[in-house]
Amino acid sequence: MSGLDPKRAERPGYRQILPRLTDRVMRDLAIWMACFGLLVGLAFPLAALAFGVPSEIALQPGFLAMCLAAGLLVAAVNWTLARAVIGVRLRVLASGMRQVERALVEASFSGDWSRCDPQACMVAVDSEDELGEVAVSFNRLVTGLAASHRVSEGITAVSEQLSAHLDLAPLTDAALAELVRQAGCDAAALVVAHKGTAAVAGSIGITNADRLAENPAVLQVLQSGEARELQLPEDVVVDAGLLSVVPRDVRLLPVRFGVVTLGVLIVGFNHLPSAEADAVLRAAAIGMAVAINNALNHEDLQRVAALDQLTGLYNRRFGMQRLQEEFGRAQRTGDPVGVLMFDLDHFKSINDSYGHLTGDRVLRAVADCARSAVRQGDVLLRYGGEEFLVVLPGAGRDDVQEVAERIRRIVGDIEESAQGNVVRVTVSLGGCSFPATSAEDPTALIAVADQALYAAKAGGRDRVVLA
Ligand code: GH3
Ligand code: MG
Ligand code: MG
Repeated sequence: MSGLDPKRAERPGYRQILPRLTDRVMRDLAIWMACFGLLVGLAFPLAALAFGVPSEIALQPGFLAMCLAAGLLVAAVNWTLARAVIGVRLRVLASGMRQVERALVEASFSGDWSRCDPQACMVAVDSEDELGEVAVSFNRLVTGLAASHRVSEGITAVSEQLSAHLDLAPLTDAALAELVRQAGCDAAALVVAHKGTAAVAGSIGITNADRLAENPAVLQVLQSGEARELQLPEDVVVDAGLLSVVPRDVRLLPVRFGVVTLGVLIVGFNHLPSAEADAVLRAAAIGMAVAINNALNHEDLQRVAALDQLTGLYNRRFGMQRLQEEFGRAQRTGDPVGVLMFDLDHFKSINDSYGHLTGDRVLRAVADCARSAVRQGDVLLRYGGEEFLVVLPGAGRDDVQEVAERIRRIVGDIEESAQGNVVRVTVSLGGCSFPATSAEDPTALIAVADQALYAAKAGGRDRVVLA
């Protein structure tokens, strides 16, 4: 901003007919009127002469003084009238503007904008001239300010939600809900592309949201990074209770972080969106980029921190944390939790005969087999070098036995080829279930499973022993 003095700011374009004399318009007017009154007072005796009034009367100093006085009087009356008619209007306008200004300043400090809605803050427009124009312009300014305030409020509210969560799913849900409120849209969804696949991270008011990740228009925005507007789209149906309404207007906004398009924000309106809604959406897409990038990085980091690099199973640190949680739950609810430990038989000889790389391949194959043998909620982890642990929430002794046998059988079917030979492997398994097996804590439970595993080894390997 340049050091512009609002009192002195002048707009070019208006030609000044009379020069400014003082720093007050009304004072200038008084001076000009007085001058004009004096001029008329001086001209009057000459006009009287021209109309045949004898010169001894027309040029008499007393008559001249009377004419000058009359001129000044008319000027004074005119000036008073101008003040009464224009000055009062100007004062009303100025006081209205001052009130609005005070309310705006107060609201921006207190954050309470309730007293500043445009209707309450408008000045009356009661003349169809320059004064009316000033009032109209001022009211437009107030409306513009209110709109820009609503936009900034909307952006702040969405940003607050974006910075309140670190995980993608809750982040998306909260941000979309706020966006729907602030932008007045009827449906919204976010498709996020990560590691080469696009998936719907969250949606509101869309019945078939999952299909959005395959929608050609969405994929095109992901690829091009360019926003798109659709009319009557086929793949977005707004869920309005029993009705499914096709929205009038659908915006696809790229969520871009640097040069990478991380996702697409999809919003649907059953009405034509306002310019304010547009502004909120554009800003939300920018804010989302940062938040989503953080969430994806966080997710990656968490995954890396929780997984074993060789097998892709959970690592011991994360697995033990999960066992602790499941054990706590079992203690609270009385539901059982099973623990199964298994170890490759004579694995050292595989390493010795075919080398460590073959040994690694066998370990991965065993991990894959075990993964296919357990249920979705079971926690499978690499406990040590060639030792694995399965936490089986809800599993009693028989369930543990069943899963253990399944793992033993599938691993027995593994055939890895190395140096022209077929490499086979077997596992020994030991398990138990809490509370059938009483234990103080998860470590005690593992010790029991480990003893059972030891018994399986001692009993000849390739077998299951339950505590
Ligand atoms: P047992 O039937 O008694 O369990 O015999 P074993 O040979 O399997 O047991 P031992 O504890 O003697 O040997 C385990 C071997 O596992 C030794 C170690 O080199 C190997 N090992 C541990 N971690 C890895 C790994 O990440 N990759 C490979 N290739 N081998 C591993
Ligand atoms: Mg071992
Ligand atoms: Mg072993």
